[in-house]
Amino acid sequence: MSDKILVLYPTNPKAIVDDLESLIESLQRFGFLGEAYEWYGETHYRPGPLFLRYITFLSSHEVIVINGGIDPASAPRVDSRERVHISIPSPTSEPEFFGGANVLPPRCPKCGHYYQGDIIELLNAWYIDKENFRWHCPICGTVFSVYEMDWRQQGGFGRQQIQIWGVWPGEARPSEEMYRLLEELTGFDWTYCYYRF
Ligand SMILES: [Zn+2]
Repeated sequence: MSDKILVLYPTNPKAIVDDLESLIESLQRFGFLGEAYEWYGETHYRPGPLFLRYITFLSSHEVIVINGGIDPASAPRVDSRERVHISIPSPTSEPEFFGGANVLPPRCPKCGHYYQGDIIELLNAWYIDKENFRWHCPICGTVFSVYEMDWRQQGGFGRQQIQIWGVWPGEARPSEEMYRLLEELTGFDWTYCYYRF
């Protein structure tokens, strides 16, 4: 099972796609998404024929394909770019944190100061009052929501995601063409982060 994901999500953490079915159809028509299939009980999609135009790989890794108890030593090895799959879950009712084992201390977006405290504590404080929680930068004194802090692409917040499974942190990112397409189809800006668990 794959456990590292490139997550594309709207820059506005509250934004959601009105008609997900229609977005999925468009993403198939534009060659980003391929056919749907069932993956551990969920609907996932294979990459479409133009997938690599939308997602730029800086590197990749070798994947050992283990099916039905084959000895891993003799199992086939393929490039990870051939094994990615995509999931577009329904939006959540409020912003959630997209972060896993790879989360790093966020930075102040104004002065660049690295948050020094416990990240879990920061997230808990946000979680119990998502609307009103603010972080005060101890260096420049500016006040931010957690959404405005710089999570350095190792975490993000939102209600809507496009998940690309099988991408290690730093391996790939959306191309300008992907940002343009998503903006055209949804009417808002998108960004990305990595999630590894
Ligand atoms: Zn600051």
